[in-house]
Amino acid sequence: MVFLKLSPATEFDKKMKDKYITFSKNIFIPVTNVCRNACGYCGFRARSLDDAYLISVKEFLTLVKAKGAATEALFTAGEKPECAKFAPFFKKKILDYGYSSLVEYTKELCKLAIRHGLLPHCNLGVLSKEELKELRALNASMGLMLETVAELEAHKNSPGKIPAERLKMIAAAGELKIPFTTGLLIGIGEKSVDHLHSLEAIKSLHDKYGHIQEVIIQPFIPKQFTPMRDRKPPSFEILKKVVRAARAILPEEVAIQVPPNLTAPKELIKLGASDLGGISERTIDYINPESPWPREEELRRIVAPYELRERLPIYPGFIKKGWYSEEIRPLIEKYADESGLRWKESKSGLVV
Ligand code: SF4
Repeated sequence: MVFLKLSPATEFDKKMKDKYITFSKNIFIPVTNVCRNACGYCGFRARSLDDAYLISVKEFLTLVKAKGAATEALFTAGEKPECAKFAPFFKKKILDYGYSSLVEYTKELCKLAIRHGLLPHCNLGVLSKEELKELRALNASMGLMLETVAELEAHKNSPGKIPAERLKMIAAAGELKIPFTTGLLIGIGEKSVDHLHSLEAIKSLHDKYGHIQEVIIQPFIPKQFTPMRDRKPPSFEILKKVVRAARAILPEEVAIQVPPNLTAPKELIKLGASDLGGISERTIDYINPESPWPREEELRRIVAPYELRERLPIYPGFIKKGWYSEEIRPLIEKYADESGLRWKESKSGLVV
């Protein structure tokens, strides 16, 4: 049973008066769209061999060199492509590149990203504890959307969406002290009570390990050519309810993130959201390509009168706790000010 004590929006407003809203600047890197799952709402995964790809080092470097002011390399990939329908394509391609697995290849891309001044954040689907261990030192933070603890029709062809599997990985990330991003996908067939149960599950993992830095409340957006193309996105009232519940259930140090390209953040900020996630000036949102990110100036206007502050992919609390490796320390020291947020200008006075 979940008991909610919801504070009125006006009280939260007062608390937020002197606070700021955060976002990060990233380069979005779609490593591969080959995925073992077939979620009913997904427009990202390869549907035919003609669509399937694995990014090459050359393509990756083109993205990275155009990073502009970004500090984060956001790596996204289909889950366990080695077990997917198009596994033969993936395996041949990755062998041609000189690697044997997605994790091994992504590690090399992370090293290159660091060399080019970007802090990696990997979101590669369900990974084993061993795989998390391999990636840990090369990532500022990592992520996996829980989505929901309910078992849904939308996930009937997605072995990686079994809630217990995802909770197990989030727990493993906690054991390894990896600053972690997770979230709920709203409107994919779950019930209201599932939102509460999902938030409670995240809270209990955070209570145990203290590693959840943010929880994304993401609305489902229908995609053409998917089984759920005719389903409506969740109403704004539902999103408001979930954000309010998230703020009531999760401890204060866990940020609530709402994506500004998928919803109207202003009202959600009043209800407890305090982060707008990563935006990219140079790359699109490959998961929601039809929804462009607002520019930084637009975000500043949207969140006023709150101040907009840029953060790194690792939140200030985890920088203070020292939850990062020697491999990425130089970049954190270069980009973070004494509060753990990004310098408003680089230490040299130049825009980095
Ligand atoms: S796991 Fe992700 S990439 Fe794979 S089908 Fe589901 S939503 Fe798409």
